[in-house]
Amino acid sequence: MSNGCPNSVPTHARSLVFIGLERSPPYILEASKIPNELEEGEVLISVELAAICGSDIHTLVGQRSTPHPCVLGHEGCGVVVRSGRPDVQEGDRVTWGISTICGNCLLCSLGLTNKCENQIKCGQVIIKRAALFGSYSTHIRCPAGTPIVTLPPALTPQMAAPVNCPLATMVHAISKIPSIPRPGQPGASVALIQGAGMMGIYAIALLKEAGFSKVYCIDMNRSRLSRAVEFGATPVHPDQAWPNALDPNEEIVSPDSVDVVIEACGNKEVLTQGMRTLRVGGTYILVGLVHKDSKLNVLAQTVVTKCLTLIGVHNYTSQHLEEAVKFLSQHHDRYPFSSLMGPIYPLSEFRNAVEGAKSAHFFRVGISPHM
Ligand SMILES: [Zn+2]
Ligand SMILES: [Zn+2]
Repeated sequence: MSNGCPNSVPTHARSLVFIGLERSPPYILEASKIPNELEEGEVLISVELAAICGSDIHTLVGQRSTPHPCVLGHEGCGVVVRSGRPDVQEGDRVTWGISTICGNCLLCSLGLTNKCENQIKCGQVIIKRAALFGSYSTHIRCPAGTPIVTLPPALTPQMAAPVNCPLATMVHAISKIPSIPRPGQPGASVALIQGAGMMGIYAIALLKEAGFSKVYCIDMNRSRLSRAVEFGATPVHPDQAWPNALDPNEEIVSPDSVDVVIEACGNKEVLTQGMRTLRVGGTYILVGLVHKDSKLNVLAQTVVTKCLTLIGVHNYTSQHLEEAVKFLSQHHDRYPFSSLMGPIYPLSEFRNAVEGAKSAHFFRVGISPHM
């Protein structure tokens, strides 16, 4: 069992194991043996802080089928305690990619390493295939092919834990925008972010730093909208006659005026509004609609006659993860990233952590496995 010191390697890890929805609760705390020797390419990390993602909640409430038994959780950061790779050293403070990359399949050869045909997904793989590849655990054992990125000391665990999911995904999404204005360039672009969740908040900061002159953010939740303002957004609430902004002095989002719309809310009903606000030749990036209830009611005529580009973005590549860490390193003083992390619980209080994560009060709830 863990001896309580995060950086020494105990004989066993303590992990939160998902055992299926037919059991109540659908998870148990379990000890599993840590091998003395890693296989080539593997990395063993002592988890400093994990974060509960919306997709983990989807698993726990039956909205996403997840193979089990598996160690749940994918977001997090930690310290390398054993390494089977020459480029990763013991003592490195790191985050990891949420899926492995084989580098040999067709999709990898096309640069779509985020969709590698042979990928093993963190927090979604049965224990027999890749033991301990989940972040709700004192230790995570990353299989060969897992992107590993070093974290600078200035990044607190609260800042760093969600980098490997919502921030890296948003870096990927924004890389799809055809042309991004340089900061300070006149005539810089205007964007609309649909959803002030974790992905939406990161998108706002990324676009502001990329040189966008205005980033509107729309959400039902007024307290989240007020947080979006701290990251540079112009808030818009749907209760008001669309498209009025919250501030009566603020200019209105006109139809056909926005260069880029990013859907980051998972609600298919927002598509009509997004299409209406896009200018001719605008770009619509869909990120949040990862569930089955996503059949769109879109007039293809609008897509054709406005010459719109629709792009779907799922997860990210190792390059996006590196860029996400770099972005956070460069801008953590300018935005209150740490405050996006709500309460932090030990593994033994996972039930309370999940209740906190289900409420809309926090952007993220943390799990501190060594607490
Ligand atoms: Zn996530
Ligand atoms: Zn591959």
